[in-house]
Amino acid sequence: RTKESGRNHYQFYNPEMSLEIAENFALETQLHQAIKNEELILHYQPQINIKTGQVYGLEALVRWKSPNLGLVGPNKFIPIAEKTGLILPVGEWVLKTACQQNKKWQQMGLPPVRVAVNLSAQQLQQPDLIKTVEKILDLVGLEPQWLELEVTESILMKNTTLASQTLHELRNMGVYISMDDFGTGYSSLGYLKKFPFDTLKIDQSFVRELNQNPEDISIISAIMTLSRGFNMRVIAEGVENQEQLNLLQQLDCEEMQGYFFSHPLTQEEVLNYLLSFNQQKYLIFP
Ligand code: C2E
Ligand code: MG
Ligand code: MG
Ligand code: MG
Repeated sequence: RTKESGRNHYQFYNPEMSLEIAENFALETQLHQAIKNEELILHYQPQINIKTGQVYGLEALVRWKSPNLGLVGPNKFIPIAEKTGLILPVGEWVLKTACQQNKKWQQMGLPPVRVAVNLSAQQLQQPDLIKTVEKILDLVGLEPQWLELEVTESILMKNTTLASQTLHELRNMGVYISMDDFGTGYSSLGYLKKFPFDTLKIDQSFVRELNQNPEDISIISAIMTLSRGFNMRVIAEGVENQEQLNLLQQLDCEEMQGYFFSHPLTQEEVLNYLLSFNQQKYLIFP
């Protein structure tokens, strides 16, 4: 009793904490039904090459349209899905849906783009991830070069050897691999040697205050130098304005993603975006 009332006492002074626990519990129970009830949706954010002026990729970002909770963002429910193991069916749904949608756009005759899908740690730990990816590409009829898988540093730290093997096999299949949120994790630069990354995604925290922070310029400049040594491409995330675009361009970073170009779009909006995209719009002639 004493213990319990002690805990209640604690909770009394931390209403936010108990609210969060209750909220997470509600999320967890309802998330179980989400796939079956077709409540998950994907938005797609364009990735632009400012040198060619082309949209070359789309990152698939999952959202949950819950009838009770409204539109729930991935930062809210992906951690819960990871904790409960639901991330496996959710992740497979995302992979399949993104590939199917990309195939549909290709069949409509749009210039082909690569669709980028975020992987979570548990997916990468699955021994059958390679088979799952193969099966989906086969079923959908999408060539592997039109799929990119994004991993973060933290998910590589869990079981490094297995993760490296799996990513190499996927790369050998022809699927592209990118390192998401680069520069924010605790992994060593040796990871760049160990994993078959095609692309480094500069985390948005280095882009946000680019015009006020000389340190961020130094960091991005160092990433650009590294990427040349490793023959990797670089994309800057979170580009929101023209100043950031200009600075990145001066640093030789050609690929960008962010609200300046577009927020993540619904599949219908993507179609309009691609059809009306003006190739000259963001081109910079030095
Ligand atoms: P991320 O992969 O680093 O995705 C980028 C996030 O930044 C997205 O948030 C995107 O909407 C947001 N963003 C894009 N441009 C800008 C910008 O110019 N300014 C700002 N402030 N933000 C921008 P979102 O969609 O809420 O996704 C958050 C995170 O959730 C993602 O980070 C990713 O780690 C995770 N996530 C999303 N979809 C999936 C998924 O299908 N599976 C897994 N495992 N994780 C996912
Ligand atoms: Mg990502
Ligand atoms: Mg990121
Ligand atoms: Mg992130």
